[in-house]
Amino acid sequence: MRAISITVGRPGAALRDVPEPQRRRGEVLLRTLYTGICGTDRGLVNNQLPFARPPPGSGDLIIGHEALARVEDVDPGTRLRKGSLVVPMVRRPGKCLNCLVGRQDNCSDGDFVEAGIRGLDGFMRDYFTDDPTYLVRVDDESLGMLAVLAEPLKNVVKAYDVYDLVSRRSIPNCRDGSRSCLTVTIAGAGPIGMLFAMLFSSIGMDVKMFSRHDPEGRLAELASRMGAEYFLREDRSKQLPQSDVFVETTGSPEVAMDGIRALRPNGVAILFGTAPGGSEPLTGQDVIDIVERNITIIGTVDGAKEHYIRALNYLSSWKDSYPGVLKSMITSVVKPEESLDVLARRPAGEIKTVIDWQ
Ligand SMILES: [Zn+2]
Repeated sequence: MRAISITVGRPGAALRDVPEPQRRRGEVLLRTLYTGICGTDRGLVNNQLPFARPPPGSGDLIIGHEALARVEDVDPGTRLRKGSLVVPMVRRPGKCLNCLVGRQDNCSDGDFVEAGIRGLDGFMRDYFTDDPTYLVRVDDESLGMLAVLAEPLKNVVKAYDVYDLVSRRSIPNCRDGSRSCLTVTIAGAGPIGMLFAMLFSSIGMDVKMFSRHDPEGRLAELASRMGAEYFLREDRSKQLPQSDVFVETTGSPEVAMDGIRALRPNGVAILFGTAPGGSEPLTGQDVIDIVERNITIIGTVDGAKEHYIRALNYLSSWKDSYPGVLKSMITSVVKPEESLDVLARRPAGEIKTVIDWQ
């Protein structure tokens, strides 16, 4: 069967022929239908992620962590049946307390593994076996390949939960009880930025998002279809709008600080993107402003099984409430044989590329 792997420590990916996995008792055998490509996959292929790690006893790592798969074989009496569609979870628990209660997204000692990223093979292969604990059933089969968005979206759902929790240290809503008087500004218009835009827009907040390029105005058009306003910000000379929530998805410390500086009193900054470069001083005036305005800065990563479940529910609902928007986010579908170039370099205008394994 086919598998896309990297040799950890060396750039490049290869499509290899590997033996089919054998299902053991208690496990599920899965047929991969679709896998999404994200920045982490490209970081792995270009040998830019210091935390990349092959499974024990191997030098190679099968990549891929955004997937939709179909159950091929399973023990009788399991809730999953042959033919069920599932999204596999990325992070698998270590031994800390958070991990032991299924909250490995909040692991406190780093003793976890992540499929296709660190210590565990991923899903860019024809078949894999897995523990049913880490499979999230897709009840809405009409989602099709859109279900690969559940993995990135679960991060956004968790981030929203953390925001919601900290926002309650002051009155979090408007006079009418909703959050419709609040403004959120989102830095970055990639898949994560768009999913944040849809989530905040769906609860009625005023959403503005920006990036440095908008080829042919497509991002502006897509943003308006998700109830958000898009603006171009080619450099830092353009002041960011005042907002109650700022979401940073690009990983730029300069953009992060610009967003924090534009927060209103009781504002919340959600830092999600990561990148190794850049620097921006935190000045004495910044510290004064953060303290005096009760600003909260959140860092958030990954999500738990409940966030995957809610992500799938959001996708089902958004498919109808934002018609065509999710589909427009998948800018190309390639076969595994055509995917190595796309894995190495992001094509111009890409939002999300999906690999079709069928
Ligand atoms: Zn842990």
